[in-house]
Amino acid sequence: MQRFFVPREALSHGTVTFRPDQSRQIASVLRLQPGDVVNVLDNAGWIYDIELTDVSPMTTHGTVRGRHLATGEPRTKLTLYLSLLKADKLEFVFQKGTELGVSGFVPVISDRSVIGSIVSENKRIRWERIITEAAEQSERGRLPQLYPAIVFPQACEQVRGLSFIAAERGERPSIQKALAEKARAAVGSRPFSLNLFIGPEGGYTPEEIQTAVSYGIIPVSLGPRILRAETAAIVGTTLVLAYTGDLE
Ligand code: SAH
Repeated sequence: MQRFFVPREALSHGTVTFRPDQSRQIASVLRLQPGDVVNVLDNAGWIYDIELTDVSPMTTHGTVRGRHLATGEPRTKLTLYLSLLKADKLEFVFQKGTELGVSGFVPVISDRSVIGSIVSENKRIRWERIITEAAEQSERGRLPQLYPAIVFPQACEQVRGLSFIAAERGERPSIQKALAEKARAAVGSRPFSLNLFIGPEGGYTPEEIQTAVSYGIIPVSLGPRILRAETAAIVGTTLVLAYTGDLE
């Protein structure tokens, strides 16, 4: 079943109007016909069964045949503070993180980030498209948020609530142990929120870890082996969502 996120205003009086790019996809790529059924997600947690009424690459319309709550949304709100990585690695994390249940991505420019400090508008649009397609594919009820890129010290300063930083060296508890110590009580009280910082290919500098600690961000380990940054992001996400029961 094909799924499409639409803005709330696209759904009114029991009908939906698809955007031009979605209309083109429906008409020219998928070659769907009037009478075919697709799903529409309203980014507020509902999934609608839509019967297509008129199909054209310019504007396609459909009629609502029913709606139910999307089951793909995790209860936990996990935000990844992800250091900028090489394009393909970063996009891998946006896609897989969305499939797994990440709620927000904050691109972070850290000392050893490979790319400079400029995130072009084109890049953002591309990242948003990757996240949207992954969210449609995995039947998320809401689109993960992509926040503006910020520098590491600013990220430490603005982050609120329980926050972990994945540190590949030094004395630190495993992420499971840290969750058991810091989050056991909070996990029961919904919605549970957690921020997880993942460093760049070259790792964090010791000064960055110190800065994070000075803001109350807790260093955690993802095990005795050094993982690639993109692996660390996916493993960290999986361990958090497994702990909170969001993968059951
Ligand atoms: N190049 C560095 C490793 C960087 S790994 C080195 O060889 O020292 C990239 C990022 O992934 C790290 O900054 C950290 O956030 C995360 N990471 C990788 N392995 C980890 C581990 N075993 N425990 C915690 N974090 C890890």
